Amino acid sequence: MQKRALVVGLGIAGMSAAIGLRQAGWTPVIVERAPERRKGGYFVGLMPEGRQAAVDLGIAGYLHTRNPPDGGKAWSLTRRGNREPGVGFLHQPGDPAAVVRGDIEAALWRSTCGDTTGEPIDVRFATAPVEIDDTGGDVRVLFEDAGTGAQHRENFDLVVGADGLRSRVRRMVFGPHEDYMTKWDAMICVFQLQEQVPSFAETDSIISARAGRAVWVFGFADRPPTVLLTYRTEDTRRQFTGSAIQRLRTVFSEMDDPAVRHALAALEKTPEFLFDSVHQVKMPRWSNGRVALLGDAAWCPNLYSGMGATAALRGGAELGRALLESPDDLDAALTGWESRLRPFIRKHQRIARLKQQMFVPSSRPVEALRSVVLRLACTARERRLAKARARTSA
Ligand SMILES: Cc1cc2nc3c(=O)[nH]c(=O)nc-3n(C[C@H](O)[C@H](O)[C@H](O)COP(=O)(O)OP(=O)(O)OC[C@H]3O[C@@H](n4cnc5c(N)ncnc54)[C@H](O)[C@@H]3O)c2cc1C
Repeated sequence: MQKRALVVGLGIAGMSAAIGLRQAGWTPVIVERAPERRKGGYFVGLMPEGRQAAVDLGIAGYLHTRNPPDGGKAWSLTRRGNREPGVGFLHQPGDPAAVVRGDIEAALWRSTCGDTTGEPIDVRFATAPVEIDDTGGDVRVLFEDAGTGAQHRENFDLVVGADGLRSRVRRMVFGPHEDYMTKWDAMICVFQLQEQVPSFAETDSIISARAGRAVWVFGFADRPPTVLLTYRTEDTRRQFTGSAIQRLRTVFSEMDDPAVRHALAALEKTPEFLFDSVHQVKMPRWSNGRVALLGDAAWCPNLYSGMGATAALRGGAELGRALLESPDDLDAALTGWESRLRPFIRKHQRIARLKQQMFVPSSRPVEALRSVVLRLACTARERRLAKARARTSA
């Protein structure tokens, strides 16, 4: 008989895990607490490991990417508000594929709902687990319908918690959030711009980074940019009191440049934005008996790392591979899965601290050093592009 797995969460991690499980011959069931599938989202740069995982999961052909030609132009704004050529997120090694989160989810969804190859996966919306009891032989899960409050129980051979940074599965099975969510003393606000910053080209990326606060505008080839406002603060809890927009206006009041002005004005009108504190999730082990965590729930490397979506895809693909290799030994499969993945996650969790300085420098000296490093990187990139152009025209 086919083994059944419950996957909690219909995000990148959840769908990747479910497709990986299906590839390994399991029958996955996904529950999602929202009443319907979300769309859209913010800028995500998909790294080579994530693109390879998309191939492994059989969804690469359905992934819509939005890179401007040559990675597009990136502009750095000086303290006086002047622009100079800069180095954008898409110019880093690995040539990230520019997408919004919804592009990855849309590609995964086509496979999940059986639009491509494989049986459609059973997806239940407005449903969340409220009790998880690992008996050793199986896992008994009590579900609650978000609309009616009705409850029912079902048994599974495995439960995969892919329910994000503040995972309820993690809290129920592994312990309180504070045990695993590390403090980063930083906040983010992300949203979709309706229009590019005036006087910049539609596909341009714009970066204005000062000590403790920064604005990043991410340009795409075929849709308006998304924007990230990020700042450092030692009291993240207090940031959630009162109006988020008013708080951001206060934090960014000393930065009077076109990107900041445009972003703050757009924020007042946007129907939807994400305002949150930044954390990394660090766990000594990602599984306990027949319950495993995957994606942000297990290892959130955070947005500064630029690796969360990549790691979630890879985590799902690797889970399928490990279960295929050890079909009759769940413990061996989960141990093998974790030991293969952990060095990759550890490395990117570490690098994120350095990358954070690139996103939002911690002090004036770091801000100055960052500018020098990026100016050198920019010159090197321009030389490389000029050489490549010369080779093509020769
Ligand atoms: C601003 C920003 C920029 C980023 N940039 C990048 C980037 O450039 N590159 C990159 O690789 N990554 C990036 N990331 C990270 C990436 O988006 C995430 O790591 C990835 O989307 C996480 O996916 P996930 O499926 O683990 O979690 P989530 O996306 O949080 O999905 C969790 C799902 O579970 C559901 N859920 C939650 N609780 C329950 C419950 N109790 N029961 C049922 N369902 C539940 C939620 O509704 C949701 O659908 C960025 C993140 C942010 C915020």
